[in-house]
Amino acid sequence: MNGYEYKRCSFLVEWDDEDASLVRKFQMLYYLEDDTIELYELRKNKGARPRLFLKRTRVAAVNLGSMHVGSTFNVMGRNMRISDFADEFTRNKLGKLLQVVDRCVDRFVELLFIIEVLNQDDFLPLYLKRTFAMLKPDAMDRSDEILNLIKDRGFKIVNMKTVSLDRNDILRLYKEHEGKPFLGFLVNYLTTSPCLAMELVAENAVSHWMEFVGPTDSERARVEAPGSLRALYGRDKGYNAVHGSKNEEDSKRELDIFFPSTQVGNLSPPRTSATLEGTLCIVKPHALKEGHLGSILQEIRKGGFRVIAMQMFYVERVNAEELYEVYKGVVPEYADMVDELTQGACVALEVRYDANVGDSHSRFRELAGPRDPDIARHIEPSTLRAKFGKTRVENAVHCTDIPEDVVSEVEYFFLMLQ
Ligand code: ADP
Ligand code: MG
Repeated sequence: MNGYEYKRCSFLVEWDDEDASLVRKFQMLYYLEDDTIELYELRKNKGARPRLFLKRTRVAAVNLGSMHVGSTFNVMGRNMRISDFADEFTRNKLGKLLQVVDRCVDRFVELLFIIEVLNQDDFLPLYLKRTFAMLKPDAMDRSDEILNLIKDRGFKIVNMKTVSLDRNDILRLYKEHEGKPFLGFLVNYLTTSPCLAMELVAENAVSHWMEFVGPTDSERARVEAPGSLRALYGRDKGYNAVHGSKNEEDSKRELDIFFPSTQVGNLSPPRTSATLEGTLCIVKPHALKEGHLGSILQEIRKGGFRVIAMQMFYVERVNAEELYEVYKGVVPEYADMVDELTQGACVALEVRYDANVGDSHSRFRELAGPRDPDIARHIEPSTLRAKFGKTRVENAVHCTDIPEDVVSEVEYFFLMLQ
């Protein structure tokens, strides 16, 4: 390995090209020294040489902290997702960070690497794994609290959506229980109201999550694993609040059901729980990065709202521009607002005021507060923007401005975008 190779990492990256209905695969080289990347498209034909797709360049939001399997970032309006390491060097280097110190030949790069890692606000332990997790209907009323616990346990949520499951979805998820006496119960239990499906990332994600979930029977969990989610939120061996995949194979299969990497050739994933009866709230990327999702949901609940649907999105630039079109040429922060919304994951919510009594749209605007968080802190200190906002662009939440746009904005997120 020469010095040049030593300074770069190599990943496999995928982009779901919806126009062409196919998943494009790329090799991405990431240069540690200046945070630049280079993309080569991998072609299907045997022997076809990879084609240069993007010359070495710097891309906003690409940095060492985002270089892990499962992370998504935006390259020229396309959402690219890292699906794997492309060489053993990268796997080992990123995976065994602590051993890097001994193995590094180039002391300068080594130092640069470590300093950079330590400086990352959102630094995640490297060599992360993914797993599937789900809150069952009986846990949904306290999902805000549970999301905070999940965060405190060190899990990063890279995908989430509320789903209304039907019998077939449940038979797919629990195919190993075919013919079991409790299957009828399970179908009843999980079809009564929505569940929250999630893709979690952490070190040893599968076992780490199962340990946090606890034993199947919540009563046993309270004795054997009192801090576990089932001990805290479940009732018995049937109503046990949460689901987890028991091994790597199940986790892959279950993630594929709920978050298929492509729609091409897949059974359709479970339907979202959106009803299009509420109003739209988007928890912006900065607020998610700062770990405010659980607390924002708590405030929304305390404000008398019910969250009907919730889904994580990695918004593409064209879509952000479309959403914010009304502000173009009107609000000076328009371009920065588009940048912020495409900066990383956001979470869209459909919220309804007090079980449909009253006007969700205007009530929610009151709860969100003035657009400028500094003004909000002065005149409406109990609003979401006063509590979680920083600037006019990083103001924690987007909410629909005029009542005429409510339906189209909710539909845009929950029907059109995937
Ligand atoms: P786990 O969810 O811990 O992997 P299982 O795969 O054995 O547990 O069962 C799937 C789900 O079915 C359980 O989480 C629980 O909700 C329900 N269940 C399991 N066993 C019973 C039972 N004996 N009676 C009622 N419900 C059960
Ligand atoms: Mg199981």
